[in-house]
Amino acid sequence: MGLDSLYKEVILDHYRNPRNRAELGSVDRHADGNNPLCGDKVSVDLTLDGDTVTEIAITGQGCSISQASGSLMSEAIKGKTIDEIARLRELFTTMMTSEDQFVDPDRPGATLGELEALSGVKAFPVRIKCASLPWATLDVAISGAADRVTTD
Ligand code: ZN
Repeated sequence: MGLDSLYKEVILDHYRNPRNRAELGSVDRHADGNNPLCGDKVSVDLTLDGDTVTEIAITGQGCSISQASGSLMSEAIKGKTIDEIARLRELFTTMMTSEDQFVDPDRPGATLGELEALSGVKAFPVRIKCASLPWATLDVAISGAADRVTTD
């Protein structure tokens, strides 16, 4: 099986069996994301312990790329600190915008695990927004923290 088919399998698996879909008992941070170009919707709920994301729920509806990306992201960031997540986000963005070769061990996606499956989307520029939507929504959820902290 070529990398391309392998990546398609990973995306379909996460689309059909999305991870971390269950509602959380309590939520520290929440954000809703919307990609009107494709009609994708993604909501992010988080619980935090200090700087660490302890629980995450991703819900929404839309194309297979947006929903699989949310599922993949939820697995990648659970248990990570906000700084570690920012680093992942940076690598993910670099992967989605660079012309890297899969054979290059220094390519941005090399340390991203299953998230690298989304690099295949680069061939379809209009779909990059679908793949990026969960990450953009996560940014809003995390950065909205300051306001929440002062009002809580
Ligand atoms: Zn989409």
